[in-house]
Amino acid sequence: MSWNSVVGQHSTIRLLQHAIAHDRMPHALVLSGEDGYGTLAVALAVARCMTCENVTTSASLDACGTCHSCIQASTLQHPNIKLVCALPSGKADVESELAPDVLDELAHQLRTIAEDPYEAFGLADATQIRISQIRELKRELAMSAAQAGWRVVIIHHADEMTVEASNAFLKTLEEPHHQVLLILTTASPERLLQTITSRCQTITLSPLDDDDVVTALVEQGVNANEAAIVASFAEGNLATARSYLNEDLQAERAEAIDLLRTALRGKGFRGDLVEAVANQADKRDRRRALRTIRLLALWLRDVQSVLLAGAEAPIVNIDQREAVQKFAAGFGSADLVHALDLLETAARDIRRNVSVQLTLLTMLMDLRSLFHSAVKTASA
Ligand SMILES: [Zn+2]
Repeated sequence: MSWNSVVGQHSTIRLLQHAIAHDRMPHALVLSGEDGYGTLAVALAVARCMTCENVTTSASLDACGTCHSCIQASTLQHPNIKLVCALPSGKADVESELAPDVLDELAHQLRTIAEDPYEAFGLADATQIRISQIRELKRELAMSAAQAGWRVVIIHHADEMTVEASNAFLKTLEEPHHQVLLILTTASPERLLQTITSRCQTITLSPLDDDDVVTALVEQGVNANEAAIVASFAEGNLATARSYLNEDLQAERAEAIDLLRTALRGKGFRGDLVEAVANQADKRDRRRALRTIRLLALWLRDVQSVLLAGAEAPIVNIDQREAVQKFAAGFGSADLVHALDLLETAARDIRRNVSVQLTLLTMLMDLRSLFHSAVKTASA
């Protein structure tokens, strides 16, 4: 009931279950990794498991989902589960002093992540966890437990603690409380005080497998084809994958491949190509240009797969299998590794602020000469 909200991360889950089963949970954990790998999802699953009234008697080492604790934990209303996060800059120093609209937003976000821990969590303009929050936490921990059993404190994005907050937190770490588990999530463990990390057990979450991302997306209702494309963009980060769902990647892919086709056309291609690139670069959108390049790379990798493994090769652009095959048949003699290098170079130039228009045009002209000379050589 708690672990099934975590996508992938099977070895981490086994490790944590083992620690719970053998009563060897350290008093402080750092869960290191990007949000979209599931740091918060794992932290919440641990918190739910540790606070379940039946877990000690449960052979499955999972929260039962039905006890009083589990029901409270399911909506993050459990008095023994506390989540500390950065608060917006302003007068309020602690949660209880926040303006009503900010409190509403916080409550809303807590409800959201209680249901779906891969949703973005964090208040607008909130970049620091302040010392007053850590002091408040210490006061709460010093008081007797609100409810018997384990208390779990999650410091979300612990690297956002100010220096003062970090030093105050260090004192809390040095004086462990009975049945209190502190979990720090961070994508930048190097930004934590070394004196803090040395007192915690660090678990590093790895990027998710593309398959796990696809499965998670399909479960939320995304069609399999789109899920496969989006996952191949996301580098194992479910949150990133979801952010791509809002972009019209299928249309962008069509435009990207159209650019390549225009570049490969016969006489008179030049005017069309300049115009097509100008249309794209007109948006002065580097992110968009990088996606175009990435979509072309996926396309060429699919062509490569078909050339290596035949018509039924596993490809990302599954809805475009016929077009991929046709391209492979037409330009299969070209050096695709070199073509992918050209894309890589263009992406690097765009990141280094070289003109988008110039970079795309150069890349497409280079691809043109690469593909055409291969065809000429093959037919000679
Ligand atoms: Zn339970």
